[in-house]
Amino acid sequence: MSKPPEDKCGYQFPPDFEVTGEGCGTSKGPHYSSCYRTTWNDYDRCVWHAKTDEPKPIDELKNVRERSSCRELNSQNGPAELLDGAHLPSASIDGLSDLDGCYLRRANLRDVHFSEGSCKRAVFADANLADGWFRGTNFSGASLSQSSLKETTLKGANLTGCKLEDAHLERTNLLDTTLVDIRLYGATLTEVKINEETEFDDKCVYDPKYDIKSDADIPEMEMTNQLIKAAGQYRLLEQLARASAFPDMERNNFIRRKDIHRRQHREDGRWRRWIQASISRWVLLYGESPWRIIGSSWAIIVIFGILYSIVGGITVTTKPATHAFDLPQLVSFSVPVPIETLLINLYFSIVTFTTLGYGDIQPSNGATQALAGVESLLGAVLIALLVFVLGRRAAR
Ligand SMILES: [Zn+2]
Repeated sequence: MSKPPEDKCGYQFPPDFEVTGEGCGTSKGPHYSSCYRTTWNDYDRCVWHAKTDEPKPIDELKNVRERSSCRELNSQNGPAELLDGAHLPSASIDGLSDLDGCYLRRANLRDVHFSEGSCKRAVFADANLADGWFRGTNFSGASLSQSSLKETTLKGANLTGCKLEDAHLERTNLLDTTLVDIRLYGATLTEVKINEETEFDDKCVYDPKYDIKSDADIPEMEMTNQLIKAAGQYRLLEQLARASAFPDMERNNFIRRKDIHRRQHREDGRWRRWIQASISRWVLLYGESPWRIIGSSWAIIVIFGILYSIVGGITVTTKPATHAFDLPQLVSFSVPVPIETLLINLYFSIVTFTTLGYGDIQPSNGATQALAGVESLLGAVLIALLVFVLGRRAAR
């Protein structure tokens, strides 16, 4: 590629690319660009690239754009139009039709007005969109990686499938915004505004559970990365939800993140921590569900009630006799399950679990005493956990 003629803009992307002669156009990758638009007024750059605070007339910006038929043709092989490094601070580009599929890497779009616009699949990597107005604009499938979205208004915008990795969001307006399928790993979120209508996914795209089909296809190395990114995104959304006082969203992302950590323990063979995490998951939903604890408590009471019935050795002090199933008879189905025996043992199980100890019923042999000891210990732990979980929820 040779140098463009004098009356052409010649803006190059990446800017540090040196034109040394022919055939080097692709040495920095397939998306090297050099602007062939005619220079604008007295500037040595075109109307898109001229570095000036002078307002740029929308008609002149439109005049040097590729025709939409050409852009459609281009977009089949790559960018629809190369507008990298565009310099349009404070411009109102509402009348610019669309920027679908365009490359706007490192573009300066500070305080730009492009409401109800369309930027589908556009690449804004490393661009500056701070203070910009993009109300209701369609960014679906676009890349905003490493972009600055400081105080940018994206109210009602559609960011479905958007890449926001390493993007900077500060006091960004995301009210009524659609944010499904987004990639947020590495982004910074500070005082970002969301509301009930801001739409997020239940699971994030990095989560292996997001698309169950692909789980087996993910190579091990990639899986490790995916899990790190998934945990990172859940943490970001958890913090955002906490700052915005959305307890349900915070809780959901917290549980998802803990699930990812549990998966990481399994992938890395940390079995002891995996077992701990699994017990925490199933018994108390990582401390998020009092109902799960109450359910687990009842399960323990019933299991121990049945165990006492099998082991025997429970004595009702007022009428001394042990209450146990006659196992051989029970197994051969020759007698129905003695409900009274079961109820007595369940009653003993509840008294033991709750460590009430009325003294009206007691274990009278070694095995039953040992079982009762284990059950009362489990009861004390679960009741303590229930108090902890209820306290935590009340504090939110
Ligand atoms: Zn140019």
